[in-house]
Amino acid sequence: MKLAKSLERLGTESAFKILADAKKLESEGRKIIHLSLGQPDFKSPDHVVKATKKALDDGHHGYVLPNGIIECREAVTRKIKKLYNSDIDPERVIIMPGGKPTMYYAITLFGEPGAEIIYPDPGFPIYESMINYTGAKAVPINMLESNDFSINPEKILSLINNNTRLLILNNPNNPTGAFTDKNKIDQLAEGLKKFPHVAILSDEIYSRQIFDEKKMPTFFNYPELYDRLIVLDGWSKAYSMTGWRLGWSVWPESLIEHVIKFCVNNHSCVNAAIQYGAIAALDGPDDTINLMMEKFTKRRKLIYEGLNDIKGIECVMPGGGFYAFPKVIGTGMNGKEFAKKCLHDAGVAIVPGTAFGKKATDYVRFSFAASQDNISKALENIKKIIE
Ligand code: PLP
Repeated sequence: MKLAKSLERLGTESAFKILADAKKLESEGRKIIHLSLGQPDFKSPDHVVKATKKALDDGHHGYVLPNGIIECREAVTRKIKKLYNSDIDPERVIIMPGGKPTMYYAITLFGEPGAEIIYPDPGFPIYESMINYTGAKAVPINMLESNDFSINPEKILSLINNNTRLLILNNPNNPTGAFTDKNKIDQLAEGLKKFPHVAILSDEIYSRQIFDEKKMPTFFNYPELYDRLIVLDGWSKAYSMTGWRLGWSVWPESLIEHVIKFCVNNHSCVNAAIQYGAIAALDGPDDTINLMMEKFTKRRKLIYEGLNDIKGIECVMPGGGFYAFPKVIGTGMNGKEFAKKCLHDAGVAIVPGTAFGKKATDYVRFSFAASQDNISKALENIKKIIE
């Protein structure tokens, strides 16, 4: 078989590989604490499951519109109005099978040889993977610990040139847990007005997981950018629905017909019944989100203090999401060596920083989407093997 050359440029998300390694050890009888996967450890809300079952009972079994049923798109716009007081036409909303397809389609719409796409580094690995796959030049925004890994508007604007087609941002950020406040995003949005040729993909998938009562600095705050703004969000993280494969995105009007073509060529439409569950999630009570945040707040403190208490480890306080991204080089190991030792000697699965960017050699990512007992035990085991 002769395979396409472009395949050599396609990357992956190593958290899934680490999960496979951890599962293998478990099958050999080892006890593993999983702090590697980026998914909340809660059941999806009961009312969402009920609404989905009802939709199945009611006979929603067939194909539906490729951009999503209108009721679901309207529920998305109602939620955007409620959360951000922004008015969005449901025709600009596309219901997707997860958050990932939005980044796949957005990057494919703009990426080709000669084009440049700016992305956060460290960042969600699929950005760089997909940019490289299209043949575009991947231009990293070096997110620095000295800046709490947060977004630096001047630095980002300085990376833009005539070849730049798309700027990808992710706030709150995976893997660093960094949260950038509205002040900085205002500055960036103001600066972006000078570059009307640059589209923006704002990945806001952690928009409901922000600590210390801070508000989501969404790009919906800037209607002047709407003609080149793509917002990625969804149900996976907010409602603990990662396995449902359900996401939503808002696109500039001019891109809708192209994105719908991608949907038709690729997945046809999102599962009909779960779109009714999706409506129930958006219109229903936020109890699950509130409970999750109560728990995440306690776990964040536990992991932040526990990691900083281990000799050779330094961790900044995460501001959003459910990740801590400590520097571990002080232990005498780089992130890769540290993660390997944690898995094999301490029975704790975590992800090396290099899974999120080549320069993050000194770091590892801990997901604190696990019980306090498991986090405490993991910290205890790691402290033992390190000290
Ligand atoms: N964007 C970021 C930053 C993520 O961390 C993830 C998942 O981990 C996604 C998007 C994709 O979400 P989904 O599981 O809905 O495809």
